[in-house]
Amino acid sequence: MSNITEEIKKRRTFAIISHPDAGKTTLTEKFLLYGGAINLAGSVKGRKAAKHAVSDWMEIEKERGISVTSSVMQFNYDGYCINILDTPGHQDFSEDTYRTLMAADSAVMVIDGSKGVEAQTIKLFKVCVMRHIPIFTFINKMDREARDPFELMDEIETVLGIRTCPVNWPIGCGHEFKGVYDRNKKTITTFQAAMGGQKTVDATEVLLGDPQVDWLIGEDYHHQLMEDIELLDGASDELDMDRVGKGNLSPVFFGSALTNFGVETFLQHFLQMTTTPLPRLADKGVIDPFEEKFSAFVFKIQANMNKAHRDRIAFMRIVSGKFEAGMEVNHVQGGRKLRLSQPQQMMAQDRKIVEEAYAGDIIGVFDPGIFSIGDTLCLSNEKFEYEGIPTFAPEHFARVRQMDTMKRKQFIKGVNQIAQEGAIQIFQEFNTGMEEIIVGVVGELQFEVLTYRLENEYNVEVKLEKLPYEYIRWVENKDEIDVAKIQGTSDMKRIKDLKDNPLLLFVNSWSVGMVLDRNPGLKLSEFGKN
Ligand code: GDP
Repeated sequence: MSNITEEIKKRRTFAIISHPDAGKTTLTEKFLLYGGAINLAGSVKGRKAAKHAVSDWMEIEKERGISVTSSVMQFNYDGYCINILDTPGHQDFSEDTYRTLMAADSAVMVIDGSKGVEAQTIKLFKVCVMRHIPIFTFINKMDREARDPFELMDEIETVLGIRTCPVNWPIGCGHEFKGVYDRNKKTITTFQAAMGGQKTVDATEVLLGDPQVDWLIGEDYHHQLMEDIELLDGASDELDMDRVGKGNLSPVFFGSALTNFGVETFLQHFLQMTTTPLPRLADKGVIDPFEEKFSAFVFKIQANMNKAHRDRIAFMRIVSGKFEAGMEVNHVQGGRKLRLSQPQQMMAQDRKIVEEAYAGDIIGVFDPGIFSIGDTLCLSNEKFEYEGIPTFAPEHFARVRQMDTMKRKQFIKGVNQIAQEGAIQIFQEFNTGMEEIIVGVVGELQFEVLTYRLENEYNVEVKLEKLPYEYIRWVENKDEIDVAKIQGTSDMKRIKDLKDNPLLLFVNSWSVGMVLDRNPGLKLSEFGKN
């Protein structure tokens, strides 16, 4: 086996998705702890603070003490080389969060056991489903009062529409959390909390039939467990790895990230079950990651707000082969050959210059303004394009007006450049030109970023007037339909993008259904094509 094949085989690249506060950071931190990337848990949270000191990323990030863009962490564990893609939440939720999922090969979905499936999980989950990538569920915070596990399974299946297969099963929760039952090994591991940066705990593991069980978990819980097992064995899906691979079945694990219970077992199972780097579709066909020729696509562009060097970093996912620093590549969409200077890789806490990287890895390269989201890079004697990255539906809209009409040119230039980076989407009124611009964003913070950047980088002061729309749909069959004649609802608005593609805006999801009902043959989509 060649060295390249061996390296690629070791790669596991996944994203962690969750609703804020479900425990994503805590779980990531524990993963890194096992990999030895950090010595003491707690460092990941510190990462946000530490980053301000070392980086000159966005001013807003500094001012607000939050991280605006998602990052990648790489670490080694048990012979694997793991890339975790972080998907930012809270108010820094943006289109970047979605795009990050385009670079992942599988997803870990963290769910708070007391809350179940929450809004942001649903949104991110939809993108994973679109890509048919394997999804693993970690039901967290079992050391706290949690909902009935059967009810949680049921909610995942009905709300998210994916079948589930519990790999382990909780025994009690909160103060009465006794441990978990491993359905495959038929063993019970009793709950022990490891606090702080502790890696291991002295948990007891016994076989289900062991006479100690009654004593360890109590007679009532033992009885309950036997009933649960019977129900599970009778009613839940088999762990069919084929279905897991296609994203039709999610293996479910219960645990507690904070007390480090069930985390390493989860990591081990997950690494065995998840996939090596997946092939990707290009215009010339499917590209195999193990092909030795390097290729990659850009999935994220991050602007540097430091005035002293107004550059950008383009993040790319390596799809095939090996990358070597200084190597000459063909930037297909740009139509030119270039050398990637100073490629960087994000480690747990800082970035470092990489000398080599392999399919599955993410690297960031200095971008003097030549890259766009979705661009392909391949060997200099090759030429093909990866399938584009879809445009995700913005949920907040505003009309943007410049205060000084004399600065029209800068305004248009600024808005266009920021849109090219993928931070915002721009639209126009359906029947007019660029006199009025409507901006759509996935996360509201992007409005602030836009106002700030237009003022600081382009010297244009703008006023934003928020619009009430929250739902946008692309008209898929625009050539068959006369958009002007669509029977709308009173809250529907027609707009178009810069390529004149028609779109519809709605205040609520009910109207979307109504318009579909009223216009047979109309096809609407939540994702736009670039
Ligand atoms: P994120 O927003 O998803 O990254 O969530 P965090 O990892 O920051 O966790 C949110 C809060 O929940 C923090 O106060 C954590 O200490 C706490 N937390 C995370 N995991 C657990 C857990 O397993 N049990 C308990 N009791 N608290 C947890």
